[in-house]
Order: sequence, then structure tokens, then C-alpha cells
Amino acid sequence: MDKYNERYEQIAPTNLVAQKDTGVKKQKINQRSAQRGKPVLSRKQKEEEKLRRLELERQRRQKLEITIPDEITVGDLALRLKVTAAEIVKRLMGVGVMASVSQVIDYDTAALVAMEIGAKVEKEVVVTIEDRLFVEEEDSEENLQPRCPIVVVMGHVDHGKTSLLDAIRNTNVTSGEAGGITQHIGAYQVQVNGEPITFLDTPGHAAFTSMRARGAQVTDIAVLVVAADDGIMPQTVEAINHAKAAEVPIIVAINKIDKPTANPDKVKQELTEYGLVPEEWGGDVICVPLSAKTGEGVNNLLENIQLVAEVQELRANPDRLAKGAVIEAKLDKGRGPVATILVQNGTLHTGDIVIAGTSLGKVRVMLNDKGQRVQSAGPSTPVEITGLAEVPSAGDIFNAVEDERLAKELVEKRRTEAKEEVFKAYQKVTLDNLFSQISEGEMKELPIIVKADVQGSVEAVKQSLEKLSNDEVRVRVIHGAVGAVSESDVMLATASGAIIIGFNVRPDPVARDNAERDGVEIRLYRIIYDAIEDVQSALKGMLAPKYRDVDLGRAEVRQVYKISNVGTVAGCYVVEGKITRSANIRVVRDGIIIADDKLSSLKRFKDDAKEVARGFECGMTLEKYSDIKEGDVFEAYIVEEYRD
Ligand code: GDP
Repeated sequence: MDKYNERYEQIAPTNLVAQKDTGVKKQKINQRSAQRGKPVLSRKQKEEEKLRRLELERQRRQKLEITIPDEITVGDLALRLKVTAAEIVKRLMGVGVMASVSQVIDYDTAALVAMEIGAKVEKEVVVTIEDRLFVEEEDSEENLQPRCPIVVVMGHVDHGKTSLLDAIRNTNVTSGEAGGITQHIGAYQVQVNGEPITFLDTPGHAAFTSMRARGAQVTDIAVLVVAADDGIMPQTVEAINHAKAAEVPIIVAINKIDKPTANPDKVKQELTEYGLVPEEWGGDVICVPLSAKTGEGVNNLLENIQLVAEVQELRANPDRLAKGAVIEAKLDKGRGPVATILVQNGTLHTGDIVIAGTSLGKVRVMLNDKGQRVQSAGPSTPVEITGLAEVPSAGDIFNAVEDERLAKELVEKRRTEAKEEVFKAYQKVTLDNLFSQISEGEMKELPIIVKADVQGSVEAVKQSLEKLSNDEVRVRVIHGAVGAVSESDVMLATASGAIIIGFNVRPDPVARDNAERDGVEIRLYRIIYDAIEDVQSALKGMLAPKYRDVDLGRAEVRQVYKISNVGTVAGCYVVEGKITRSANIRVVRDGIIIADDKLSSLKRFKDDAKEVARGFECGMTLEKYSDIKEGDVFEAYIVEEYRD
């Protein structure tokens, strides 16, 4: 019964109901007179009345029908439910969610609370411009047809990426082929046993990851080039981790086997240290020894690419509006904005209206990788197009659309969003906001990139950090290497939402600028233990705040007294700012800090003082340091907690 009363009080305060219902007023009078006369009966009446009103209230609420979007603030939900925000906050606590009025809660939580209050809930369907503009329906089985794989070549500098891409292109060009020489448009296709393979013609993981950072996932297979005479080098490791982060299967091309110093087995051995176990050693990674110079083994590589692609069962629907990604784009003097795009689904035709990022236009001329004019391009085909109004960015998603007016609207919306994005960058994961992101359920995994001065530290940190994983968050070191924090590290961090931890290394200037621009956190440490402790505290939401000294003022020692039982008293004159009782004191003699201590007393004449301002004299004693001399300067400061 008590519970019932409480509940009633919550949702139907007496005065509120009283205004609507005259019967209640009467009841109230009854109650008062009853209090004087026969309390037992009135109490029963009161309860009955309460129950009745509660039932009425419940019925009224039952009729309340509201819609709730994917996300809603507590305050907004309260408005829609016609209750106070405090009521919602209280009920949220009941289901274990701590939220303030301005905080956003998800649909499920909001619906739970609304239903508990008795409202009928429906999900608010938000139709975005994208929804109206793009045909996003799933392709049905019968529409799907096999498409060829899209391959990227990565590896350490000078290991032969460019040579390999050239060799592959050349194996394919038979002398009689029309327009035999391929143009550089950023991607090309070769025929292997009558089946095409598309190669991205920009070697290296920088292009690959910057595209991924913009949201385009275009590649199906990564070929990792490792020179057999050099073995695994820092950028090889980067490439491995970039491919792994993108969950793209890796085929290893062990290059330069024509060289006498080539040692393919050593390469394989080293690969295992990075979790890539060659097939012939019982693993699942295909390693193809080859020479980009002589061409030996190149066909073998191509056949293996087809093999891996077959397993992936890559398919697309050629009979729909085209969708894909921008590979390269530039402004051509004669032709205007030129973009190489890779169709991922559907077919692109000349005359189609396309939107890429914030660029809109009608496809005017379409050239294939051989420089020939084509009228259409199906899935996995790279083509160069003209007709866009402005130069898009590599990695922008492009869509062919039907409604030009709507597309214009979308371009406007994207422009605004791009501006907002700049602000949002500051909301990226940092150790400081990690815990709140975990609590809000936004973080399931904390990706970390570790850079250190020696390999031993990288390994040690990696293992210790990964051990910190708990039920809620998995800590995963997605890349670890020796060397300064580089541009490529920041790019990987942006693409993967990772934070970067460095030991005895510093970010290079470009990396620092990019990290600042993209809101990527770089934490630098000298001691491994500190880093581990910070991550651990961050996971628990108990990251120790940072401290800094804040100067308060300066005083000159004019006279020194030795007083028995008290110690050394410095007679001072405050020359700048103020001295407070709780301050720390740096004793400076001839420009050198000779002691750092705390005040143990601060007096004006005989009286204790809380603070002494500039232009006044005072007596000070320090807790420990007593070897004070005339002419010393006392610098008062406090230690302040701060977050950045
Ligand atoms: P990238 O920086 O990875 O693109 O490497 P390059 O393709 O520019 O090659 C670097 C150097 O290695 C060049 O001098 C190439 O001629 C040489 N090179 C590439 N592949 C081979 C190979 O299979 N055998 C030999 N002997 N040299 C190669």
C-alpha cells in the first residue's frame, strides 16, 4: 500500500487533480473534517480515492501515444510523455541508466520508460535525403553476378611495389592490342585466363588508409610486397597492420628472388612473427616468390589472387544505379574536374547524374584504363569521368542518382555536415573521455597504436596493454613499431578510431598537425608503467588528473631571525602578487631554485594571516627548509588540477 501511495503521489499530485475534479475538493474537505472526527474511516476512504484516481491516471496515460526517434534527450522524452524530466531521470535510474536531462538515450531505453509510464510507443521513422535519393534496397539473389577482385599493392619502400604493378600491367599487354599502353588513371584491369583483376595503381598503404578514413572500403585483397634480400621492414609491418585493421586478406609477394642474396625462407620466418603463417607451414597465407624484374612468378601471383577472390565470392548487381568510390581526382586545365572512380555496384552510364562527396554533375566523357571512350562501366571497373562541378576527394563515395534537385539538396546538407565534422573531431576517443564512452556503450574496443624507441618496449607495452581488456572493453594494439609517431600512424588512428601511445619518441611535425586537425590523441611517455597505469585508470574512469603549477606571487627576504622553538623566520616584503597560507614556496637564490617547500606559518606582525598582498611585509617559516638568507626570493605557487 505504501508503494502504491508513493507512486500515486509521483504521478498525480493532489492539487493537480483537485483542479480538474471537483469531487476531489469535496473529498479533501471530508478528509479534514474526518481528521477531526473519525480518522479510521477517512483513512480508508482516502486510500480508495487514491486508487481510483491512480486508475484514472493510468487510463489517461494509456491513451497517450507517442513516437520516439532513434535517439532522444531525456528532456524531450519528458515533454512528449507530458511528465517532468525528473520523473524520467528517476525511472531511468530504476532501470540502471544514469542520465541527466540533456543527455541522449537510445530508442530502446526511452521506449522502456515510456511503456512503464503507460504510453503507447511507436518508432519515429526518419527519412533522410539519402534514403529518398539512393536506392538502398538489398540486391536479390538472382540479380547478383560475380565481379572481379580489386587489389591493392603495399609494402616497404624500394621493395618493388611500383615494379610489380608495372610487371603485372606488361604481362597483359599483347603487342596487337588496341591502345595497348595503359593510361595512368589510378587503377587498371588485367585479364588473367580470361578473367579480369582490378589493381589500384597507387602503391602503398597511405592511399589505402586515407581512403578508408573517408569511409570507402574498396579493396578485396592486399598484396604485400617483401623484398627477399631485405626481409620485413617497418613499413611492411605498417602495411600488415593496415590490411588487418581493414580486414582485407593478404597475399605475400616475396620479390627480388632473382637476386643472389635473396632468402625467401627468412621472409617466411619473419612473417610468422606478425601472425602471417605461410600455407606451406600449415597456415593460411599464400606466399608467392617472384621477380618483378624478370617477370618470374608474376603469373603465379595473379592466379593466386583469383583463387583467393573465388573464395570470397565477390558479387554485385550490374542492373542498378552505380555506386562506388573516388580513387583519384584532379583539376585538368582543359577538361575541368577529372575523377577516377571505381564502380563497386551497379553500372555507370554516360549522362548519369552523379554525386561524390559535395561534388555534383552529369557524366560527360568516360574513359577506361586504356584511354578508350566507353559508354558504361560495370562493377569493379575503374573509369575516369569528367562532368563534375568540383574536384572530389579520393575516398569519397559516389552515387549515381535520378533526382537532380534532391541531389543538390544533399550536397548542401553535406557541406553543412562537413563543417560540423570539424567540431566533432574533438569528440574522438581520448583517455579522458574513454570511460564516458564506455558507459554510454559506444566503446567495445579500444584500438591503440604503440610507437617506441626500441622493439623490446613495443612488445612489452603491447602485451601489458592487451592484458588490461575486461568484460566491457577489449584493448587491442592494432599497430606497434619502432620510430617517431608518423603521419601514417595518425592516418591509421583516424581510420580506426585509435589512440597513439609513444615511448621515448615524439611525433614528427606533420603527424602532430594532422593529429590536432583530426582530433587524434597522442600520449607520450617515458616510462612504460605510466602508460599502462593511465590506460588502466581510464578504463575504470579514474584517470588521474594532470597537475600544473600556478604562480601566486613573489616575496623578498629582507631579514632572517632565528627563534628558539619556532625555527628560522624570514621577514619578507611581497613584491608581486600575493602569498597565501596554503601556498608552496620555491626558494630562489641568484636565479637558482635551491629549495621547494610548503609554508608552515604566515604572519602579519604577531597575527596569523590567510594571505598577504603586494606591498606588505610578513613573516614566514617553511616546513623543512631553514637555511634561509637575506636576499632570497620566495616564489609562492599552488598546484592546480586540470584536464586538457
Ligand atoms: P617501391 O618503392 O616499392 O615502389 O619499389 P620500386 O618498384 O621502385 O623498386 C625499387 C628498386 O628495386 C628499383 O631499383 C627496382 O629496379 C628494384 N627491383 C624491383 N623489383 C626487383 C626484382 O624483382 N629484382 C631486382 N633485382 N630488383 C628489383
